[in-house]
Amino acid sequence: MSSLDRDTLTEIAEKALTRPSDAMFWDDRLFTTHGAMFHWADNGDDILEESNYLSALALIQGAAGDFADDHVIDGSARHFAFGSLRTIYVQVYEGDVMRCRECDEIAAWAVSRKKHGRRRFLCDSHKDCWEWESERYGLPALAPIKYRPKFTAAFTEAAELAYGLLDYPIIDESDYSEREYERFQSNLNEALEYVQRDFEDDSEQESAAISERAYEGGLGELLGELPDACVDTDKVAAIYREARDAYFTELGNAHLNAPIAGQLALV
Ligand SMILES: [Zn+2]
Repeated sequence: MSSLDRDTLTEIAEKALTRPSDAMFWDDRLFTTHGAMFHWADNGDDILEESNYLSALALIQGAAGDFADDHVIDGSARHFAFGSLRTIYVQVYEGDVMRCRECDEIAAWAVSRKKHGRRRFLCDSHKDCWEWESERYGLPALAPIKYRPKFTAAFTEAAELAYGLLDYPIIDESDYSEREYERFQSNLNEALEYVQRDFEDDSEQESAAISERAYEGGLGELLGELPDACVDTDKVAAIYREARDAYFTELGNAHLNAPIAGQLALV
């Protein structure tokens, strides 16, 4: 059961199904049965947006179960501002939902002429049609009953996730941290390779030892310093150089302090 009340779900449904006026869509289901719930500019650097999008997608597909293929669309489109934009579209109402007999909108009212008679369905704006028809046929209609179209499990899940983001910006904390850490490592390695070009005579073994020392000496603490796991290449260079100096100084001292051949014999 959803933790969101029906009015909130209805409001989110309406927003999700509102078709942007300036765009073309490749699939008839978009903004008719399937509403847009999450976006991700997937050639950008925003790790949080990436993590939230992919985490939401997995959770919504999970909630949809056997209907995942029909109820969830992971769509990709060119966008004038973002380049490539991915969007999760989710089928909002169950397939057997009733539609207004006048305009085909999702129905909001059920009306009939007698208690267990055949029901007719109408949207909010066509609710009055029934009264007109009653007059014409001279049959009184019973008071319209509010019709509550059933939301899909996929939509309910998506709405809860979207609503939850208003309180807390991360859908899956561990997914986000993993992505951030991976991106950081990759950015850091790139920066290290760049600094190491100045020290081409260092052996691979020496470079690895210096890198390790530099990581302990401050590189590791750069995580989280800049947004989206970026690293300050000047800082990386400074820390690496410092670690390299220390490494060779130590190596030199070790060499100087090593017993000179024959020394022992003199003591
Ligand atoms: Zn209607």
